[in-house]
Amino acid sequence: MGGMIRFHNTLGGRIEDFVPLEPGRVRLYTCGPTVYDFPHIGNWRAYVFEDLLKRFLKYSGFGVTHVMNITDVEDKTIRDSKARTVEELKRYTAKYIDAFMAERDLLNIQPADRYPRATEHIPEMVGLVKTLLAKGFAYRKDGSVYFAIDKFPAYGRLSRVNLEERRPGSRGDADEYEKESVHDFALWKAPKEGEPFWETEIGPGRPGWHIECSAMSARYLGRTFDIHCGGVDNIFPHHENEIAQSEAANGVKFVNYWLHCHHLVVNGQKMAKSKGNFYRLADVLARGGCDALDVRYLLVSTHYRKMLDFTFEALKQARTARQRMGDFLGTLGDVPPEAAGQAPVEPLLATARAGFTAGLGDDLNIAEALAAVFTLIKDANPLLVQGRVSKAGADKLAAFMGEVDGVLGVRPSPAVSLSGKIGGAGPAAGTADVLESGIRAKIEERQRARAARDFKRSDEIRGELLAMGIILEDTKDGVRWKRVVPPKP
Ligand code: AMP
Ligand code: ZN
Repeated sequence: MGGMIRFHNTLGGRIEDFVPLEPGRVRLYTCGPTVYDFPHIGNWRAYVFEDLLKRFLKYSGFGVTHVMNITDVEDKTIRDSKARTVEELKRYTAKYIDAFMAERDLLNIQPADRYPRATEHIPEMVGLVKTLLAKGFAYRKDGSVYFAIDKFPAYGRLSRVNLEERRPGSRGDADEYEKESVHDFALWKAPKEGEPFWETEIGPGRPGWHIECSAMSARYLGRTFDIHCGGVDNIFPHHENEIAQSEAANGVKFVNYWLHCHHLVVNGQKMAKSKGNFYRLADVLARGGCDALDVRYLLVSTHYRKMLDFTFEALKQARTARQRMGDFLGTLGDVPPEAAGQAPVEPLLATARAGFTAGLGDDLNIAEALAAVFTLIKDANPLLVQGRVSKAGADKLAAFMGEVDGVLGVRPSPAVSLSGKIGGAGPAAGTADVLESGIRAKIEERQRARAARDFKRSDEIRGELLAMGIILEDTKDGVRWKRVVPPKP
C-alpha cells in the first residue's frame, strides 16, 4: 500500500528510504520502562510515538515483530527499592509493571509481542559479557567487567560525542552519565553489600543497564534487526553503548534504523518534581475535562522529532480536534438508509487517503496526515448537511475514518459527547455542562478502576450512573453511554 516510506535515521542524521531486512516484515525494538516509579507523560510520549510508528507500518502492509524490554534491575530500581534480594526487587517492581500495562491500555497502545524482563535474562547477558571478554573488548576490574571503548573504533558514531574529551582508561559505574564524561562503562557490576545479585559463570553481581537491551534484543529479534527507538535522552550513553556491545560481540551491524523522539516539556520547562510540573497520566485525568484518548491525541499530533510543549490549553485543543472527528462520525451515522444523494465522495476519499499515507510515509509527518483528514471532514460536512451523500457514500467515509483510526488510535466516538446529542435525548439547557462533565468524570473513574482491576468499584460506578439514567456499554471500541430516560429539567 502506498509509496516508499522514509525515516530520519539518527545514525547518520539523514532521511532514508526504509527497507526492512526481510521483505514484508519489520523487527522493532523499543526501550521500555525502568520500573522504579510510575511512568510520566514524557515517557508516554515516547511510547505513543512508537505505537504510531508500529501502527503505520502495519497499515502499510508490513508484519511487525515488536519487543519492548522491562528494565527491572539497574541503578534506580535498586536504589529506590532498597531491596536486599532479587525476590524483594521483583516484588517492588511488580506494581510499576502493572501500572505501566494499565496506563498503556488506557492510551490504546497496542501491546508489544513480548515484554522481556531483565531479571529473567541474566544468562543471555552473561553469555554476551563472556564473548566480549574472550574477544578482548572487555576487562575485569575489582569484581566488575567494563567495556573498553578504545577497542571499538566506531564508538561515538550514533551520538557523535566528542571522544577527544575522554581520559584514556577512565571508567564509570553509573548506568547513566553525561556526554562530558565519555568513559569505559560497566557491563557487569560487582555485588555490593546488602544489594541483590546473581551467582554466575563470570562471578557474582548484576548487569549494567546497557547490556540488558543488547542481550534481550538479540534473543528475540536476532543479532541484526530493523528499527530501534527511544527518546533522545537514550542516544547517549544508552544506545551508543548498546551498539558497541552488540557489534563488538556479534561482528555484524546491530540496527539499521534508529528513530528517536524529542522530549515532552511542560510550559516550555523540563518536567521535574521539584518544579511542580511533573505529571503522570492519572494527574492529568484527575483535573477533569478530558480523557486518556485526548491525551493520546495530543501526544500523537506533534511530530515526533519536535519538542512537545504540554499545556492544558493544548490538551483542550486536542480534545476539540478529536471531538470533531467524533462529530463527523456521528453525522455519518445519522445518514438514513434510504439516503440516495448523488455527491461523489470517491474523489474526496482518494485525496484524503493519499495525503494521509504520504504524510505519514514522510518520516511520520503527522501534521500533513491530519490535515488530509480534516480537509476531508471540512469538504464532506456541507454535502452531508445538504443531504447530498448517499448511505453507501456515508459508509465509505466512515470506513475511511476507521482506517485512519487504525493508525491514530484515538477512538473518536460519536457516543461520548458534551453536546448532549446522545441517544437523541438532549439535556435541558443550563444543566448540560454540570451533568455531562459529572457523567464523564464517573465514566473515567470507572475506566481507571477497571484498569486497576478494581471491579467492585467499577460496578458501583455503573450503578451510580444507572441511577442518573445513564446506561453503559463496554464495546471493543471503548465505553459508550446512552440515556435510558431524558434528564430532568
Ligand atoms: P525510562 O523509563 O527513563 O528508561 O524512559 C522510558 C522512555 O521514555 C525512554 O524511551 C525515554 O527516552 C523516554 N522519555 C523519558 N523522558 C521523556 C520525556 N520528557 N519526553 C519524551 N520521552 C521521554
Ligand atoms: Zn534500552
